[in-house]
Amino acid sequence: MSDPTARDIRDAVAAGSLSAVDVCRTCLERIARDEPQLHAFLTIASEPAMARAATIDARARASERLPLLGVPIAVKDNISTRGLRTTAGSRMLDAFDPPYDATVVGRLEAAGAVIVGKTNCDEFAMGSSTENSAYGASRNPWATDRTPGGSSGGSAVAVASRMVPIALGSDTGGSVRQPAALCGVVGMKPSYGRVSRYGLIAFASSLDQIGPFSRTVFDAALLLGVIAGHDPADSTAARRPVPDFTAALTGDIRGLRVGVVRSMLEEGVDAEVAGSVRDALGVLQSRGATLVDIDLPHARFAIPAYYLVATAEASSNLARYDGVRYGFRASTTDADLRTMYEQTRAQGFGAEVKRRIILGTYVLSTGYYEAYYLKAQQVRTLIRQDYEAAFARTDLIVTPTSPTAAFRLGERIDDPLQMYLADVFTVSAPLAGLPAVSIPCGFTRDGLPVGLQMVGRMWDEETLFRAGDAYERDTAWWKARPPEAREGIGL
Ligand code: GLN
Repeated sequence: MSDPTARDIRDAVAAGSLSAVDVCRTCLERIARDEPQLHAFLTIASEPAMARAATIDARARASERLPLLGVPIAVKDNISTRGLRTTAGSRMLDAFDPPYDATVVGRLEAAGAVIVGKTNCDEFAMGSSTENSAYGASRNPWATDRTPGGSSGGSAVAVASRMVPIALGSDTGGSVRQPAALCGVVGMKPSYGRVSRYGLIAFASSLDQIGPFSRTVFDAALLLGVIAGHDPADSTAARRPVPDFTAALTGDIRGLRVGVVRSMLEEGVDAEVAGSVRDALGVLQSRGATLVDIDLPHARFAIPAYYLVATAEASSNLARYDGVRYGFRASTTDADLRTMYEQTRAQGFGAEVKRRIILGTYVLSTGYYEAYYLKAQQVRTLIRQDYEAAFARTDLIVTPTSPTAAFRLGERIDDPLQMYLADVFTVSAPLAGLPAVSIPCGFTRDGLPVGLQMVGRMWDEETLFRAGDAYERDTAWWKARPPEAREGIGL
């Protein structure tokens, strides 16, 4: 079996034709071979993963049937794993071994998955390229001089390069969908409240969601089903039943109304990206979907609204890194407490995180709060209302995921505004709380992947999965293997 999906591995382990130990060993070998070129991981958990795989084999022999039985998975390094180093890409947490597991980690383990390591990301998930990681950037397996996107770049690289079949990331303004697009894999941000945030290192709490990476829509649906659901430890995790998302993949999208904002395919988008998205719309139509022109009049304010709300929340969330309770502490002999705080934060945080703390503190301060933060919250409401109006006439909305394919490493690092504009299509879904997915829909002439974004109604991940899977049945982009993944897991 070459390039097995999570579903393939699970079925083979359950059938006894493959052992979880062999699968895990092969993944670890792949990681060891390609990690020097790609730098997808911050921590590789070889020993715990092999030990865990052995216990899975025992359970498989006892005929236990679990949704991710023996499936190796990589987890973004801002998701807490008990006793396994969790840095969030920051020097501040360089030596942090969490005392507890995130809820999603517990659910992965209950589902029979094997965590093989923690993936690289922009510091505290702030960025669109992984270049803000304190541990160096990850590289795009389609062109190693280019970014894989971010902030969950390491997870996207690990899946695209076939080191693992599935991974978890987190998405606040695009951090699962944008790297998925730039690396040619599937990435989903669930509805806000679908997945527990307990144990996710907070960036902007009203936006953050954990989401799946995979090569197929089926695997994304499978993985979301495992991690979703109410959690008493997170009051924002909704008390809603979790459907069997994989059951939505019927291939039938006849009569589905697909909303398109024409201007989003005309202005500010690379022509090749727009062309691939237009072709994708044609594929959906050929399966019986109808296109509906819609308008999202406040979409052009989404970037400023996002960067006000997200920085405000970040400035509050990151106040906890004071060098006292856990994490990095600057060595300040004979200094007073205040100096210790200052030096800890000056040395522990990188430039982008500091920029956001300063911006966020500013927009929350007396005299500016009404002008910036409150205004941004009002714009957020308008953006949500735009979607509500659009969803009266459509079942999902299609846009490009990213206005360009993968940009070169270093190209935007000195120009924060240019970097923020990478998120122009991804920030409005989280501002409105809505689910959104990116699926591979083509390549540029340079051989770089292009992603198609679909945004759905609140709680309606099923329609996104159904449409994505139907599209996948008629296209082969998802099968393409990057040059750096010289051979599949090859089981
Ligand atoms: N690139 C966006 C930012 O820098 C989104 C990050 C994310 O979704 N975590 O804030």
